[in-house]
Amino acid sequence: MSILAIHGGTPARKQPLPPNYPGAMLFGEEERAASERIIQAQSPFRYYGANPQHTVLQLENAMRDKLGVPYALGVTSGTAALIVALRAVGVGAGDKVIVPANTFLATATAVICCNAVPVFADIDRSLNIDPLALEAAMDEEVKAIIAVPILGTPCDMDPIMAFGRKHGIAVIEDVAQSCGVVYRGRYQGTIGDAGAFSFQMNKVITAGEGGAVVMKRADYFERAVRYHDQGSLRERTRYGFDSPDELGAFAGQNYRMSELTGSVMLEQWSKLDTITQSMRKHHKQIRAALSSRHEGLEFRYSPDESGDLGSNLGLILPDAAEAERFSYALQAENINSFVLYGGQPVYKQPQIWHQRTIERDNFPFSYPFKKPVVYRDGLCPTAENLIPRTVFVPISPLLTDEDADEIAAGIGKVAEWLSVRSG
Ligand SMILES: *Cc1c(COP(=O)(O)O)cnc(C)c1O
Repeated sequence: MSILAIHGGTPARKQPLPPNYPGAMLFGEEERAASERIIQAQSPFRYYGANPQHTVLQLENAMRDKLGVPYALGVTSGTAALIVALRAVGVGAGDKVIVPANTFLATATAVICCNAVPVFADIDRSLNIDPLALEAAMDEEVKAIIAVPILGTPCDMDPIMAFGRKHGIAVIEDVAQSCGVVYRGRYQGTIGDAGAFSFQMNKVITAGEGGAVVMKRADYFERAVRYHDQGSLRERTRYGFDSPDELGAFAGQNYRMSELTGSVMLEQWSKLDTITQSMRKHHKQIRAALSSRHEGLEFRYSPDESGDLGSNLGLILPDAAEAERFSYALQAENINSFVLYGGQPVYKQPQIWHQRTIERDNFPFSYPFKKPVVYRDGLCPTAENLIPRTVFVPISPLLTDEDADEIAAGIGKVAEWLSVRSG
């Protein structure tokens, strides 16, 4: 057995891995030239200007083409995308929305910002929402489900869609972390009633900030476009909506995407396949090497391995202390890894746990729900158990085959030490 770097051995890698910003690390001449064109045209606004370049429109069309959906809308962030999607499908005051216990804070806070409250469903060994846990979170006040493919692994959408249809509630896919992830031959984001994308810097492709919503239904999409643009509907003919504006106008937000974002995102969008191909290849390579040599190692489950983005390798350790040791030893091998969200389900975040909003009476938590909304220890036991003992190793699109071999060797070395140590 080779000596661990934490015990004075030679690290599996000489150099640290590239920073974990897949799209941003591939910024280059294309993004520079694209954003420069907007500056030169002096037209950073999508709808008019001295010489508009229509890059947000082009991004929307590129997304529609690739994803195979009729409607796409650029917005300012993933959070904005979620809020627009929730509003579009009709979620509002006094509603509940099922949210997975393992997700980023924004999935839950977007619901609250729509004056609805999140109710949490437990996860399974995919670290995503467990379709069998939906029933326990369901009651007549629930109006939608948000499925979140965490860190590149698809959700098991077939039973989730069946559940949504059975109860007549909307299904929204929060694909913020998993742009390009596929479930049974279909891109996630296009399976449910709405898909919300984020282009913030930690995501697969990025312009620093940004987001998008995709949809299939025209009536939902009209509400989405209006909500993101002060309730008005420009370019009516583009969408084939012929109702006079006065009839459909309502009070909305401004979540419009800038042309500076659009121009960069258009270039990033065209790099998506290159990024995912590279990540998938090295994810497979590392997994294959580890599976053949370390039978005891448990990988995060995927309901569709061929559709997995490969952006992160998830390893389920025996307990939280082992996960911490694993991560610490791996760091010394020059391989970075992390445990998600402080090892806690999203309902343990203070603003959720204490049900605190910006409203005077903490609305919507003060709404007289028929079935009260309670967050407590043990609410989602599998999430509380699995999140703190799952270690994620990011797979950069910049890895070489040799990097991937070294990552596998480093993980293998640490795994072997842990299994010997625990007898
Ligand atoms: C990042 C993220 C969001 C929010 O996206 P922003 O662009 O940062 O607003 C929402 N949901 C999930 C799962 C995310 O990871």
